[in-house]
Amino acid sequence: MKKIYFDYAATSIKRKEILENFLENADLFDGNPDSTHTYGRDAKKILDQARRKLAGSIKADPSQIIFTSGASESNNTVINSFRGGEIISTNIEHDSIMNALDGEKVTYLRADEEGRISLDDLKKSLTDRTKLVIVMFVNNELSTIEPVKEIGEFLKDKPIHFHVDGVQAYGHLDIDVEEILCDSLSLSGHKVGGINGFGILYTRNKLKSLIKGGEQEKHRRAGTSFTLGAYSMAEAFDKILGEREKIKDLKKYFLAELAKVSINYEINGSVAKSSDHIVNVYFKDFKSDFLLTYLDMNGICASAGSACRAGALEPSRVLTNIYDEERALHSVRFSFGYTNTIEDIDKLMEVLGRVKA
Ligand SMILES: *Cc1c(COP(=O)(O)O)cnc(C)c1O
Repeated sequence: MKKIYFDYAATSIKRKEILENFLENADLFDGNPDSTHTYGRDAKKILDQARRKLAGSIKADPSQIIFTSGASESNNTVINSFRGGEIISTNIEHDSIMNALDGEKVTYLRADEEGRISLDDLKKSLTDRTKLVIVMFVNNELSTIEPVKEIGEFLKDKPIHFHVDGVQAYGHLDIDVEEILCDSLSLSGHKVGGINGFGILYTRNKLKSLIKGGEQEKHRRAGTSFTLGAYSMAEAFDKILGEREKIKDLKKYFLAELAKVSINYEINGSVAKSSDHIVNVYFKDFKSDFLLTYLDMNGICASAGSACRAGALEPSRVLTNIYDEERALHSVRFSFGYTNTIEDIDKLMEVLGRVKA
């Protein structure tokens, strides 16, 4: 049975041609980029090139890019630098923000039915003690685009650090740090088809190093650099840029075809102001754990956009916050990527059309 992958928001299918290029030139990756001999210099060259490309991909300067183990670490690094201060965030952030904020003094802005937070709410929550504002660019469950540019514009002259989790926007929307006017931004390599375990922290302010040790990343993050991680993310970004139209067409097709299936549903969040790679569907007559198992039996991989603990599917925190637990327990996230085809969606609709309680 052909496996169909609709879980790109969790991680992308890895881009094998990048790995093949790596294998063909593998000895250039061998050295420690901080070694001064030939091996080191070869690796350093790859690392520097990746840094320039990745900085360019968000219109940043290479000196503002810190390589990390992923967006979770990037997010934690920012929060760790502002411990004890007053923070404003939202009730739809990723766990790597939510859990890192545990124990801090935080005001959580509430997303509306479309999954959007508002600048007005932010203005009302702001005090002269606010030190940090954290808002994601695109929500990883609903795909809603948040008003980060308006927030950046509003905060630009204030002594407040503005952090954006840009993971789900990367590759799908243009990210220009000079336009968003954010002070820092997190990105992840594996969400665009790079290797798991590599990410970026863009920052224009000095932050505390979370990992202490060697002098790598100009003392901002210790640990031997992950040359392949950086290379694979930079190459993957190039590829995903060329796939936007295809992804857009897939979502359009998905929505048109779903409307033809005789099944009760509603779209969670907003279709109008959303990224094209994610669609979250509330299936009124079916629980998501049942549907996900049924789809999986038919070779189709999707998710409920929530963590699986002790074998029991817990309702999504984000959907529960916006709607209620009942709706969260009946919702499935489909997220698209470069391996997907129109035929994959035809297959999905055929399978959904046959589902029986
Ligand atoms: C996946 C994801 C992260 C975490 O990225 P990792 O590189 O896996 O640590 C953070 N934020 C959002 C919105 C994500 O989707």
